[in-house]
Amino acid sequence: MALEVPLAMPAAGRSSCALSPAETTRPEARGTGCRFCGGALHGFVDLGMSPLCESFLAADQLDAMEPFYPLKVMVCGDCFLAQLREYVSPEHIFRDYAYFSAYSDAWLDHARRYAEMTAQRFALGPGSRIIELASNDGYLLQFFVAKGFEVLGIDPAENVAKAAEERGVRTLTRFFDLDTARELAAKGITADLVAANNVLAQVPDINRFLAGLPLILRPNGVATFEFPHLLRLLEENQFDTIYHEHFSYFSLMTAERLFAAHGLRVFDVEELWTHGGSLRLYLCHEQAARPTTPAVARLIAREREAGLSDLATYAAFEQRVRATKQRLLEFLIDAKRAGKSIAGYGAPGKGNTLLNYCGIRSDFLDYTVDRNPHKHGKFLPGTHIPVLPPERIAETKPDYLLILPWNLKDEIMRQMASIRDWGGRFVVPIPEVRVYP
Ligand SMILES: [Zn+2]
Repeated sequence: MALEVPLAMPAAGRSSCALSPAETTRPEARGTGCRFCGGALHGFVDLGMSPLCESFLAADQLDAMEPFYPLKVMVCGDCFLAQLREYVSPEHIFRDYAYFSAYSDAWLDHARRYAEMTAQRFALGPGSRIIELASNDGYLLQFFVAKGFEVLGIDPAENVAKAAEERGVRTLTRFFDLDTARELAAKGITADLVAANNVLAQVPDINRFLAGLPLILRPNGVATFEFPHLLRLLEENQFDTIYHEHFSYFSLMTAERLFAAHGLRVFDVEELWTHGGSLRLYLCHEQAARPTTPAVARLIAREREAGLSDLATYAAFEQRVRATKQRLLEFLIDAKRAGKSIAGYGAPGKGNTLLNYCGIRSDFLDYTVDRNPHKHGKFLPGTHIPVLPPERIAETKPDYLLILPWNLKDEIMRQMASIRDWGGRFVVPIPEVRVYP
């Protein structure tokens, strides 16, 4: 790494289970008020106590005490930012993150198309620099490297940053915030394009994060932010996308206010299929010569019609979540009583929220499988369901395959079509329990 930026955080590699709750719970987690505007918080959905969804366990940790934290989402009555208190510090969560982007074909394809589209739409050429915030294992920037652009990834997780460097993606191993931005800007490291995919939700101090953005964005530069859309979470019952790692849940309405407070304007928005329905916001400096497209006002109007600026909409959500839990358990109990075997497919964060909230352990799911070899031989946090390679499914021929990453269900049903050879069927839990023959 050529950049000589001092690391603010100590290098770490401790597993989550090595820490006691007293070490990891922040005192300010008990504070009150919206993390963006300070407004009063109201109830949204309470999923009880849950472990960190990416804290996979090794076999020798199964008998040890495991930290559980509240998974209780509130909503601000002033700006309608849905939020979890900072029950666990991001330093603790993201230092050795198990999520490697490069293991999903559909996600890689999404990244490839993003690189093509932005290079063309914003006339990126030789000399352009692309900075990605939370660059993960370099899955996205590798496509810009291939085009000959200058890139810089910023990511705090040591293990994924190492994977990125191996792909030829220069990576700065630290959190992005105002201090990082100041240091980069002082060295003249600014960008024509800043990509920030699925990171805003993971930042507890969003004001300090967003304050840094204008400093690294060139005057005519563009930043794109992708995050799961709160409207879809509400409309499609995606309560399992709530986890401790996601401190905030955004509508466009709220996001626009947030960026405006930091001198940035949303000039376009797109709806994406990713993560069950995400938004991609296009941002520029407030005064930049980029007209705002009608898509922005149109989507905000849709959000208002759906009740996103009414606290009653949020309060009603919890009843639907409870009913979904009851129906999923009914299905599993009936299947077990009929002597059927059930395996899981995937070990995503959302699966861990779902399984822990519903109390589904190896009494219902014999095991789950994942394509990510880093997860093989590990056990799901809280539920202790073993994670095995996908080949195990053909060996054990389960009657039902419960697809935990339901957002990738089409891809998975194609890959696993052979379960039909023995009469196996797919089960998708969200938005409602559905069996596919
Ligand atoms: Zn607020």
